[in-house]
Order: sequence, then C-alpha cells, then structure tokens
Amino acid sequence: KNAPPSVPLVLQLASMQYADRDYIVYEDERVTFSALAKAVVKLAGVMKDTYGIEKGDRVAVIMRNYPQWPVAFFAASMIGAIATPMNSWWTGEELEYGLSFAGVKLAVVDPQIYERIRAEWENLPELKNVMIARDPDGEYGDPRVSQMETYIGGANDWAKLPDVSWPAIDVGPDDDATIMYTSGTTGKPKGALATHRAVVSNMFNGMTCQARMFLRRGEPVPEPDPNEQRATLLAIPFFHATGAFAIMIPSLLRGDKIVSMYKWDAGKALPIIEAEKVTAVGGVPAIAWQLLEHPDRDKYDLSSIAAISYGGAPSAPELVSTIKKRFPDAAPGNGWGMTETCATATLNIGEDYVNRPGSAGAPPKAVSLKICDPDGNELPQGEVGELWCKGPMNCKSYWNRPDATAETFREGWVVTGDLARLDEEGFLYLVDRAKDMLIRGGENVYCIEVENALYEHPAVMDAAVVGIPHKVLGEEVGAVVQLKPGMQVSEDELRAHAAGHLAAFKVPVKILFMSEPLPRNANGKILKPVLREKFV
Ligand code: ATP
Ligand code: MG
Repeated sequence: KNAPPSVPLVLQLASMQYADRDYIVYEDERVTFSALAKAVVKLAGVMKDTYGIEKGDRVAVIMRNYPQWPVAFFAASMIGAIATPMNSWWTGEELEYGLSFAGVKLAVVDPQIYERIRAEWENLPELKNVMIARDPDGEYGDPRVSQMETYIGGANDWAKLPDVSWPAIDVGPDDDATIMYTSGTTGKPKGALATHRAVVSNMFNGMTCQARMFLRRGEPVPEPDPNEQRATLLAIPFFHATGAFAIMIPSLLRGDKIVSMYKWDAGKALPIIEAEKVTAVGGVPAIAWQLLEHPDRDKYDLSSIAAISYGGAPSAPELVSTIKKRFPDAAPGNGWGMTETCATATLNIGEDYVNRPGSAGAPPKAVSLKICDPDGNELPQGEVGELWCKGPMNCKSYWNRPDATAETFREGWVVTGDLARLDEEGFLYLVDRAKDMLIRGGENVYCIEVENALYEHPAVMDAAVVGIPHKVLGEEVGAVVQLKPGMQVSEDELRAHAAGHLAAFKVPVKILFMSEPLPRNANGKILKPVLREKFV
C-alpha cells in the first residue's frame, strides 16, 4: 500500500510542492496544481462511490485537450482504475471498437463525443455510464448519463473546492495504470498496457537524456531556477503517448505549466506563445515546421522559446538547421519512442543534435537498444536491422491480444517494427518502418531517404513517398509534395533534383503536388494509405 512510484503519488507531491502555480491554462481557464488536486480527489470519490469503479476497471477519457482531460485521467488512476484514453477524432464506429475492446465501464467525454457514443451504446453492454464534461446546462434525459460540473463545477471553480484530504492510495508500481491505443499506422490500433512503474519511469527519460548531453561535454548539469516556470505549448493531443506521458505527467514532476489549445493552429499559437511566455514548443515535426515557416512569426515576441522538440515521425535533417537559424538560443530536440515504450526512449538534444541532425539520439542508461535480424539475432554495430528496446518504461503487453503480445513483447524487450542502426557512440538512426519501405524490382527503397532528398529542395515544405503498384517491378516510387507558400518548382525539376541525391531506382517516377497540407492523423503521422490511393 502506498508504495511508490505511482501516478497518484506524483500528483500528490506536485500539488503540495507547486500548489499555487498554474498547471494547465486553456483560453480563460487557469487551473493551479492545488486546484487540480482538489478536482481530482473529488472526482475520484465520485467514480468510486457513485459509479462503483473498482481497481482494474477501465475508465475511458475521450475529449479535446480541455483541463477536464487530466482531471479525469488522474481521478481514474487515483482509485486504481485503468485510464483508457481514446482518440477524440474517432468516429462512432471507431469509438465502439475502442470502448468494447477494452471493456470500458465509465467514459468521461465531451458533448461531441457523447453524440457519437450514444448511437453505438446499445452494442456496448459493458459501458454502464457516461460522464459529460463542459455542458453543465445540457439536458440529456438518460439516467446513465451525468455531468461533471454537478460534482466539481467548471475549471475556474476547482480552486474553490474544499481542501483536499488525501485518501489512502491503494495503488502500487506493478498495478496497471493505462491502456493507450497505438496510432493505427500499420493496422487497427492496439491497446498497450502500462503499469504505474512504466509511466513514472518514462517521466525521467527525457530529463536524463538532457542531463547526459552536458555530462558528455564534461559540464555540470544546469539546475532549474526555482523562480522560473517552464511552459509547454500542448500542440498535440493528450490521448497519445507523447501528450500524456511526455507532457502531462512530467509537467507534474517539474512544476511546469501546460498551455492548451482547442485545436492546433500555428497562427493562433503565436500570440499564445507570447502571452503565456511558452518555453517549449513542438510535438511532431510538422508542428515545428508550421511555426518556423509561419508568415506572421516576426510579429510576435517569441523570445521565451527555449526548446523546440519533436518525435513520433521522421523529420528532415534540415529542420535542425532551420531551428538554429530562426531561434539560435533554443535547443532543438528529436526523440524516438512508441506507445509501447510510454513515449520517450531516446532523445537527441541541443549541440548533440546539431552535430548529428539525422539521429533521434541515444537512450538514458536504464534503457538498452539493440539491432537484430528478423530471427532476433543481434547484428554487428553499424548494420541496419530491426530495433529492439528494453527499459523500465516498457509496456507489459497488448490488452487482449496474446498473438500480437507474443510478437512484440519478448523477455522485457519491445520489438519495435522500426528499421534502424546505431553509431559507435550509441546514437540511433531510424531508417524506416520495417513494414513501410517499398521494394522496387527487388531493391529496397527506404521512404525516408527519398523524402529527405526531396526536402533538400528549397521549395519543398512537406513530402511523403509511397509505393505505386507496378505489374513488373512490384512497386515504383511515388511522391506527394506540398510546396512552401509562394514557391514554384515543376515535377521534372524536382525529379532532376532528386536524381542528384539518389540512385536512379529511388527517384520518384511520379510526383503529385498538393496545395493543402498532406493528410495526417492526430499524431502528426502522414496517412500513407490515403496518399497511395491518389496514384491508382
Ligand atoms: P501502430 O503501431 O498502430 O501501427 P504507430 O506505430 O504509428 O501505430 P505510435 O506508437 O504512436 O503508433 O508511433 C510509434 C512509431 O512512430 C515508431 O515505431 C516509429 O516508427 C515512429 N517514430 C517515433 N519517433 C520517431 C522519430 N523521432 N523519428 C522517426 N520515427 C519515429
Ligand atoms: Mg507501432
């Protein structure tokens, strides 16, 4: 009982240590660490006493990045329930899959999500109750439905709730904390099951990697100034591993502020960065690019930005030099991780990254990486093969998928499905998804390599490479490109540029230009299946 570490204990400590600091800011709603704790403890009691939620029950959290998101998540973890976030972009059918697959008993949602769930509820026998946040005046006329504000009021009321008396927390490191759905890039999303130990361990990975950069240079690790609060712009959803495990939970430990938006919009982010003195921006590479390239960026004071970091998807090496050019004082960062590793497993940051712009960094000491052949034998250093990752932040299994669990979780290792190599210093270079590369007449073509060649052209803002089915060759190389505003280049010119960087068989035979941004999922990953359809 009460054995550390667990998510609720981290919250308890943070609420005492950083009581009056802002934890999350959303439009005109500001929630301090102590107000957060008051709302969480109250809601946890409601979940337990009114809705009968017990240890191990699944509680879904499905809504936009409102302050109610972390409140619902932490309330569920406080009573030992398994917090099960879901993608708020999902359709009714996808939500039905996510809810029934995890056997969710209570779902905490916003009104839009409720509309989608309502239509499917008859197919969800395990779903007993829905709690709707952010519509206190709505009339729902269904006894299974309640409104969060009935219990705790709106976000600006939480500070006025009675002082917290902390309940005994019967949650330990080996208890299950979350089921987090993977992005579904390679198939149906899988529910990765993480213990409290895994979630709490991940909190330290990013910090340890950062410290390592100074230690490598023989310099002392700078101590944070206790009077200065860092602030992260939450440009990505809470419902993926990065938002939840690399921002929401580490912000507790560090007393950081989270600045949230209804929807990512680079133009709207600029004044928010200025007003809230945001120190960290990023999430996924596309977000960093959109900020760096935004035509209004010079109209705002963005001097508070101290870090621009991202991960989750391949990024062009050119992104690092662009950051250094526009924000010479900010540390660029690129991290690799996956839902199955509770977000960050490696991080390349600052000078290390500037010197190795193609690398996603090295892991902290507690994390091991190896490169294996398809039979699981470790390959000699420097060779390309499948990346395996081991560490205390690894998930333990997929929920309800013994087949996929046996394939991916092997003796503490996560078999990642990513092709990569490690250099002599242990820095990780991702090559491609094992399953995503294309094969042209027997020759492997790594999409990333072709994409990077396209990015080298000054007019190219975004590029994605996919296989075009071909009768004889199996596949040919196709590319979809979005140009920077006001820039022009013809298909032939761009192909000639690529031919200057690539072997002939890797040069795209067809390049399509899109005037709107390339289609991406909520995690910033390009939807390659959608792009493939453009070629048929
Ligand atoms: P699914 O597993 O359902 O197909 P997914 O793998 O996209 O979806 P996530 O767990 O969100 O789901 O993403 C992890 C993957 O993202 C990694 O396996 C890797 O392919 C990619 N990735 C993560 N970080 C980086 C990075 N820094 N550079 C390149 N790719 C990255
Ligand atoms: Mg995956």
